[in-house]
Amino acid sequence: MTRVALLGATGSIGRQAIEVIEARPELELVAATSGSTPIDGLAPLTQVGGDPTDLLERARPDVVLNATVGFAGLPATMWALERGVTLALANKESLVAAGDLALAAKERGGGALLPVDSEHSALFQCALAGEPEAVVLTASGGPFRGRTADELADVTAADALAHPTWNMGAKITVDSATLANKGLEVIEAHFLFGLPYDRIEVVVHPTSIVHGIVRFRDGAALAHLGYPDMRVPISYALTYPERAATPVPPLDLTAGPLEFFEPDTETFRMLALAREAGVRGGTFPCAFNAANEVAVAAFLEGRIGFLEIASLVESVLADVDGAPARDLDELREADRQAREQVWVS
Ligand code: NAD
Ligand code: MG
Repeated sequence: MTRVALLGATGSIGRQAIEVIEARPELELVAATSGSTPIDGLAPLTQVGGDPTDLLERARPDVVLNATVGFAGLPATMWALERGVTLALANKESLVAAGDLALAAKERGGGALLPVDSEHSALFQCALAGEPEAVVLTASGGPFRGRTADELADVTAADALAHPTWNMGAKITVDSATLANKGLEVIEAHFLFGLPYDRIEVVVHPTSIVHGIVRFRDGAALAHLGYPDMRVPISYALTYPERAATPVPPLDLTAGPLEFFEPDTETFRMLALAREAGVRGGTFPCAFNAANEVAVAAFLEGRIGFLEIASLVESVLADVDGAPARDLDELREADRQAREQVWVS
């Protein structure tokens, strides 16, 4: 039996994870959390809001599936990494923000870090074949692919929430529309695979059939294909190193075009800003994430326009010092300062 603690059980990933767990007798849900929705009875131990650390101590899970959204996922990520409890990570924001601190905790804990993000799960699986020379992340391009900046000035939250291929929570759906999601994923790949940023490529692939490609030094490249369905990477992370059956149908190779395009980083500036934050290192990725979270929340509430998300993030990155965080208190302080800076910059 594998004891699973599920954080963010009421979300898009959380609900699909429950479906995966219920279909596998060897997976046992021992604890669950949500941000605000009541979840009594969902698991022997439940908690709504707050720090999940005590709950995790009591639950003694074999795997922590972190499916909360945003920097709020940090305590669970660090708890699992520090103790060597397998971390199935959907909450990319915690790894992006904590970066080196998270990797140091993983080193001390000695446990496994299994990506649930579809692209990184794909890359992880391809990388089992050899040492990656470079990796390629695919991006759907979101609902606004092909538009000019002029055409984006007046788009609304409802427009941004109509994603063409993936059905996800609101924050990540807006991140997909701005390409901030792919930017976060570039930084996530840097920490997961230990590659410099010039060996992490992004390509737009509108049908989201190819999830990731690993390049090897001999010129070979391995790609991971499948329908865009998060139950596959969730199931992979929860049953690794086995590969359990899922209800996802076999891929019909004649169904959709496999086309690839350069991303338009001049219109969708968040991808370039994230990459720049990643290269600068220190707490710049933390600041990028924090400013983006604040800006996306404001956009979803109709308080700022779509293009202002990138302008606000850009000003914050120009104003923070980005000094590396020596511990979690310093990291939380960098996150707090970047959030505050959004409306000052
Ligand atoms: P969602 O908004 O649908 O769900 C978020 C969950 O987190 C909910 O259960 C919510 O109650 C909980 N939550 C919110 N704030 C919280 C807080 N302060 N403390 C504790 N719990 C809190 O989001 P989602 O789409 O399921 O995404 C979850 C994470 O997975 C994000 O980091 C996202 O980037 C990542 N991810 C999602 C997908 C996807 O297909 N949805 C794909 C790849 C990665
Ligand atoms: Mg992804």
